[in-house]
Amino acid sequence: MAHLAVIGTGPAGMLAALSLKRSGHEVALIGPAMRLGDKRTTALMMPSIRVLDHLGIWDSVRPQAAPLKKMRIIDGTKRLLRAPTVTFHAHEIDEEAFGWNIPNDVLNGALNAALIDAGVDRIAETAGTIAEFPAGVTVTLASGATRSFDGIIGADGQDSPSRKAAGIAVRTVDLPQAALVCVFSHGVPHQNISNEIHTETGPCTTVPLPEAKRSSLVWVLRPEEARAKAALPAPELSRQVETRLRSMLGAVSIDADIGAQVWPLSGLIARQAARGRIALIGEAAHRFPPIGAQGLNLSVRDIEALTEHLSRNDGVVTAFSFYAEARASDIRMRHTAVMTLNRTLLTPLLPAQLLRGAGLALLDSVPFLRGIVMREGMQPGSGLARLMPKRNQSGSRPDFSA
Ligand SMILES: Cc1cc2nc3c(=O)[nH]c(=O)nc-3n(C[C@H](O)[C@H](O)[C@H](O)COP(=O)(O)OP(=O)(O)OC[C@H]3O[C@@H](n4cnc5c(N)ncnc54)[C@H](O)[C@@H]3O)c2cc1C
Repeated sequence: MAHLAVIGTGPAGMLAALSLKRSGHEVALIGPAMRLGDKRTTALMMPSIRVLDHLGIWDSVRPQAAPLKKMRIIDGTKRLLRAPTVTFHAHEIDEEAFGWNIPNDVLNGALNAALIDAGVDRIAETAGTIAEFPAGVTVTLASGATRSFDGIIGADGQDSPSRKAAGIAVRTVDLPQAALVCVFSHGVPHQNISNEIHTETGPCTTVPLPEAKRSSLVWVLRPEEARAKAALPAPELSRQVETRLRSMLGAVSIDADIGAQVWPLSGLIARQAARGRIALIGEAAHRFPPIGAQGLNLSVRDIEALTEHLSRNDGVVTAFSFYAEARASDIRMRHTAVMTLNRTLLTPLLPAQLLRGAGLALLDSVPFLRGIVMREGMQPGSGLARLMPKRNQSGSRPDFSA
């Protein structure tokens, strides 16, 4: 078993430290104290929920989470070519829910408690210099102390010092967008439906909370617009949110004491997910706008793959190189899909509008296609696998009977 350091105490870093510790490695988690006061909620799809369950934290999170039974995409643009509204039902793919919506503070709190319980070595400092040698990696901490490890997992976010230390190139895209987030009460029950309204500045998404008349909001706007709205008195912001939602959830009331937050958005993809003794997970490796709840779900798949390759292979360098190879296509495909969809919202060009509209119209009318997209949205490969003929027990002949 390896001696590993996870750098970064966001949700990806905490999940990775817990998963690696539970699979028998010696793990140190390096980074500042857990961030409190994050007003976002995170929609985690069922495969990610199963990981939380496997790691023993789902039971404590579940009472404060809400199931997502339907997902509705609404074209809220004022453009010439508008797409039809598409509603996906989890029961169409034999699931009770696509996933669950969890307040970030609840998830982070549960992870923090589980890390203490699991005995992860918690180093509450930032990492300074990271130096790689043939036999290991050293991390010099803010206090000046130096610690040695077999390998580093960089979960240190978009500016990732680990990525820089590994010399991994990165492609970044500045976006003219920021997300306004808040929690609100509304007059009409949400019925566990998440609404993603596509607008000219990005998606405006409502996601159910456990109470029937409470939801979280992620409204993507131009940065200056998002900041101006966040500064509005709660009654005025409530009125503007209700107008944007076309009153589909009735009267909106944003809690004055909780208020709204603004999260700047950008795109980022690392050329590879590992090099030598340094592996990257989460936003250190990939970042894109919040469309279709993909960000942390993708990071959970990073963590599953990393844990599996470290258990299966002797030596950190070999395991990390298999990990990078295994993650390349999922990361590239999700990044491209989300960035492209985001671009089709921002661009006034007719061909892009046409493409988005035609895609949604197809999804609205062809159940088979909807099934593939819903499954792929939850777990890569699970939708497309249904297109492949089944193999019989000898594995030699396709079986078309199912
Ligand atoms: C508005 C919004 C809504 C979203 N909704 C969803 C959703 O519904 N579903 C979903 O799956 N995803 C969602 N996402 C994406 C998700 O929030 C991110 O993927 C996730 O928070 C990123 O986590 P992370 O741990 O990779 O990075 P971060 O949260 O950025 O954590 C990085 C950590 O590294 C630490 N760090 C940096 N430098 C150092 C250093 N030198 N030493 C030590 N530590 C260091 C930082 O302090 C920080 O704690 C959303 C994102 C946004 C912006």
